[in-house]
Amino acid sequence: MKCNKSKTINDHLLRSWIRCRRKAWLEIYGDKQKKLWTAHSTLQLNHQIDCFHNLAQKSYGIGIQACKEGKNIVYGIRLKLPLIKHRLIKGNLPILKKTSGESIWGSFSYQPVLARQGKKITREHRLILSMTGLFINNIQKYQVQKGLILHKESEIIKVEKIRLTDKMNTELIESLLNLEKDIESKTPPPITSNRKKCTICSWRSHCNSVASKKGYLSEVSGIGAKRELLLNKIGIKNIEDLAKTKHYKLKGKLDKFGTQHGDISKQLILQAQSQSKDKAIKLNPAKNLNNLKEAKGLLIYDIESDPDIKHDFLHGFIRIPNNIHKEINLKKIKYSPLLNLKKDTENSLWKRINRKLNHHKDLPILHYGETEPISLLKLGLQQGASPHELDAIKKRFIDIHLLIREYWCLPVRNYGLKAIAEFIGFEWEQSNTDGARALLWWRQWKKSRKLNHVYSKNLNSIFRYNRDDCIATLMIAKWLIDQE
Ligand code: SF4
Repeated sequence: MKCNKSKTINDHLLRSWIRCRRKAWLEIYGDKQKKLWTAHSTLQLNHQIDCFHNLAQKSYGIGIQACKEGKNIVYGIRLKLPLIKHRLIKGNLPILKKTSGESIWGSFSYQPVLARQGKKITREHRLILSMTGLFINNIQKYQVQKGLILHKESEIIKVEKIRLTDKMNTELIESLLNLEKDIESKTPPPITSNRKKCTICSWRSHCNSVASKKGYLSEVSGIGAKRELLLNKIGIKNIEDLAKTKHYKLKGKLDKFGTQHGDISKQLILQAQSQSKDKAIKLNPAKNLNNLKEAKGLLIYDIESDPDIKHDFLHGFIRIPNNIHKEINLKKIKYSPLLNLKKDTENSLWKRINRKLNHHKDLPILHYGETEPISLLKLGLQQGASPHELDAIKKRFIDIHLLIREYWCLPVRNYGLKAIAEFIGFEWEQSNTDGARALLWWRQWKKSRKLNHVYSKNLNSIFRYNRDDCIATLMIAKWLIDQE
């Protein structure tokens, strides 16, 4: 691998590096064909546009000229500065806000602004704000004290003021120097041990295949960054080592770090054995499947949500009129999407769901994971359902995720719906889709409604995705029964 000292470091690369050192390296040297499109960056960009749009005032302009004219909001400044020795760092300052101070342009100065998604301010936000702060200080010849971070909470834009400290600047310079070291290296930094980050990364497919070829412990479901370190400490370096370890020995060693580690030693070994041999291992004889086996038919339920505003916008159901042992004709499956356009129309949504559930009173409700029952029972409670009604619904839920975890150890990196469905050979009709993409479609569709555009294709895509989530849940349930 050739490494190029002249590779540009910019705010985009720094963001990547803060998320994962390897990601920054791959952004420069990785084979772009192995990069997947993910909806996350578009969601982030749209969120940023919404937040910035909210700040926009009558007096705004573009570039340094707008600063000279003292506009309240300035967009689109791009700069290059030698923030570290011998290397120009490129900065993209998407928006600046006028504040008090004494800049070269007059009795005012500019402060950096950024938009954040997610629940809290992270290191990434602080460092990017600090970088933008250093850029603006340099051109206005005045040290700005605070930056602004905008975020959306239930459709309202909130503004947080962040003090720009010397400590943040020192951390930024150290990070830039370390980033420079990483991109000058011929080999990529290791795969992050916090594999949760990988779920939204566009390099995940490439890194997953490298990690699984090399047998990294972080590939094993149940092993996060901390547990991987503990296992390394006791001499277990890869999946093969773990698969060969005796349970009592591992338990004894892990117990020293806390019984929570020792207690799952058997599970970890079985998981490693399953993954290294690519073999499903049955854990227990299935005792709790009677409700599923004997039901005359089934309802399968799946929700799509917008987590930023805590809004479940789609409640999807499919109904199977026959016992699960009978052949299922996927083409004939009846899918009912119940849309929840606004949070304040939940009363009518609850009525529609309740009608559906009552109409098929005898059928259990299959779902994958805990989200669906929690959301549905909460909705019922808010809409005045009696404890007796809610209890009756509660008894009908069957969590297929829990059943899989109870009875099977499978050769998968995690036990999410996608991974298990893939293991049993189910494929989504639309490729490379996930919850984030459905959310993006939803937000685009909502916006188009406001603008009176026709975006029905997006809504159909969401329905097809949600229908497939329901079918995947059903097929996993059927797989469970077929293994009896
Ligand atoms: S997939 Fe994971 S390890 Fe690979 S670059 Fe992305 S975050 Fe880093």
